[in-house]
Amino acid sequence: MQAILAIDQGTTSSRAMLFSADGGLLASAQQDFRQHFPRDGWVEHDPADIWQGVLAVCRDAIASAGIEAREIAALGITNQRETTLVWDRVSGEPVYPAIVWQDRRTAAYCESLKRRDLEPMISARTGLLIDPYFSASKIRWILDEVPDARARAERGELAFGTVDTFLLWHLTGGREHRTDATNASRTLLFDIHRQQWDPELLALFDIPASLLPQVMDSAAAFGTTVPELLGAAIPVCGVAGDQQAALVGQACFHEGMAKSTYGTGCFLMLNTGNRALQSRHRLLTTVAYRLGGEVTYALEGSIFVAGAAIQWLRDGLHLIRAADESEPLAQQTPPDHGVYLVPAFTGLGAPYWDPDARGAIFGLTRDTGIREIVTAGLQSVCYQTKDLQKAMESDGERPVALRVDGGMVANNWLLQFLADILGATVDRPHITETTALGAAYLAGLQAGIFDSLATLDRFWRRDRRFEPCMDKVVRDRLYAGWTAAVARIHGDR
Ligand code: ADP
Repeated sequence: MQAILAIDQGTTSSRAMLFSADGGLLASAQQDFRQHFPRDGWVEHDPADIWQGVLAVCRDAIASAGIEAREIAALGITNQRETTLVWDRVSGEPVYPAIVWQDRRTAAYCESLKRRDLEPMISARTGLLIDPYFSASKIRWILDEVPDARARAERGELAFGTVDTFLLWHLTGGREHRTDATNASRTLLFDIHRQQWDPELLALFDIPASLLPQVMDSAAAFGTTVPELLGAAIPVCGVAGDQQAALVGQACFHEGMAKSTYGTGCFLMLNTGNRALQSRHRLLTTVAYRLGGEVTYALEGSIFVAGAAIQWLRDGLHLIRAADESEPLAQQTPPDHGVYLVPAFTGLGAPYWDPDARGAIFGLTRDTGIREIVTAGLQSVCYQTKDLQKAMESDGERPVALRVDGGMVANNWLLQFLADILGATVDRPHITETTALGAAYLAGLQAGIFDSLATLDRFWRRDRRFEPCMDKVVRDRLYAGWTAAVARIHGDR
């Protein structure tokens, strides 16, 4: 038996999945954990919750698979990206809670950098934009605001990590302080062309280099777990941020292949091969994966609200009792019902990047009912994907195939409308748990369980293909209505 254990440490839950050597799922376990909102715009996690939860789900998964820990040949980690932790190198004690990617406390500081016109330089090196979303301003905040933190950091007593690094550090009993290139590429401190921490950016953000982990390939010898934790010394062989892991789990290994993940938010990622394509339309350039020292890049667009719009229709407005009720309602509604829901609850993500925009519903008439509003909620997810597709096209890129995953893709109506509005084929795989699968693939590659990306390519199986069948005139009219609706909440700033 050669099993692979994948840890998927997400924003709201921690998951462990055990896979067999042919990519089949043996067992899984999941635990939600607490979100802390100490002030408006602040989002924190308790590092102990993250670590204890991960440990618990790993133990549960191993127990329910009925295997011995020594049968686990490799461990892979995938994680919520950008979330920032700083801890004491000796005691392991975090100096502050984890500051989550959604946290906006450093917005004013980021604005001040933009006003100094630093964005072009920072973008050129990191592929990112200046935004509180990324780790750098969060690290700086911790060093500035936590008593004594800066002095301790300067004495080399502290370590910074994204969640992968924090977990690796604990899994290896504090021996390894490492990350992979995909996670490093989300910090705003990493030069994605030279593949190294950038001294100028460290100086700009006032972050001592001694805080930073060593950057490895995504499949590499990261270290070995302390035997007492999981019952055996397991080599940690793969690490990637969650969206990059999903790209790997979807086997998007060739230039032009794209995946879109529809969970709480939506993340579209397009493989651009060995080209770090600089977007002119506010998409991000990021490391897709680094294998054998060779970097594959991706263009990324993130939408903050996708499934969360359906959650809001369910829990906020009580229009539906369960998310899957949205599908039959949409089936009963003609797509051109005239209502547009723009779910900009926390601003607009790519390609608008408007933190001040707020949501709205347009086109209400006396006969508008639950069906139209719920349908408009589903459609908003597709229109936002179209916005990203258009931005990519303006950058000269057109995905050759779109593979979808995440909780929302159970909804067939949604995927058909997506294909229609994109005018492109949409493929749903059998396994939609692509994030954990990607981490397992990376670990298995390093451990020699999988010999090549071509092998992993063969594991990918289509469950269903959705072909566009909407008339172009109708598609253009529907999408024009959406752009007009977005302009009304975004336009006149
Ligand atoms: P995350 O990993 O971000 O927590 P998931 O991938 O588990 O999210 O997806 C859950 C999201 O998908 C929820 O926001 C839920 O509203 C939405 N969702 C689940 N099933 C459906 C469905 N059948 N139709 C529409 N939305 C759905």
